[in-house]
Amino acid sequence: MSHELYESWLVSEQPLTLEQKDELKSHLQSCPRCRQIAAGWRSARTQMTKSGLASPTPGFSLRWQQTLAERRLQKQTKNTRWLLLALVVSSAISLTALVLFLSNSLAIVDWWLHTTLTVERTFGWLKQISLLVQSWLGGLPSFLPPAVIILILSAGFTFLLLLWVSIVKRLSIQGAPQS
Ligand SMILES: [Zn+2]
Repeated sequence: MSHELYESWLVSEQPLTLEQKDELKSHLQSCPRCRQIAAGWRSARTQMTKSGLASPTPGFSLRWQQTLAERRLQKQTKNTRWLLLALVVSSAISLTALVLFLSNSLAIVDWWLHTTLTVERTFGWLKQISLLVQSWLGGLPSFLPPAVIILILSAGFTFLLLLWVSIVKRLSIQGAPQS
């Protein structure tokens, strides 16, 4: 008989017949190599049993499936929570944006109305001033053509307008008091 057969008998989980056991025993007495394998296999089995690797406790797969289901449920709950949080945050942001937009557009309408009124008023003053200047310049030699006067006046008007716009802008940035 070859060593391989005895080795396969040694590591086999299947029970041996009485004849096979006797044969193995007699071979082990005469063969140090197979004795060594038998001893090694026995100690390996003992180690496996000790460390609890041999076999799981009964009901292991069922428990594992249960915990898997639990973990899935926990994950779903977690995901739902995150989704809710995201919804709440995004709706809060949208609401804030909407409120800001509405208040801003109201402010813009308000500003526009105010500007129109002021421009009309300023234009009226400028008209009076230009009339005054024209009457004052009327007696002077006409080395300043009317076009130049109009140019100077419009430049002054633009400057005043720009000044006024910058002041209004600064005020609106600072936040005008609400009535
Ligand atoms: Zn042998």
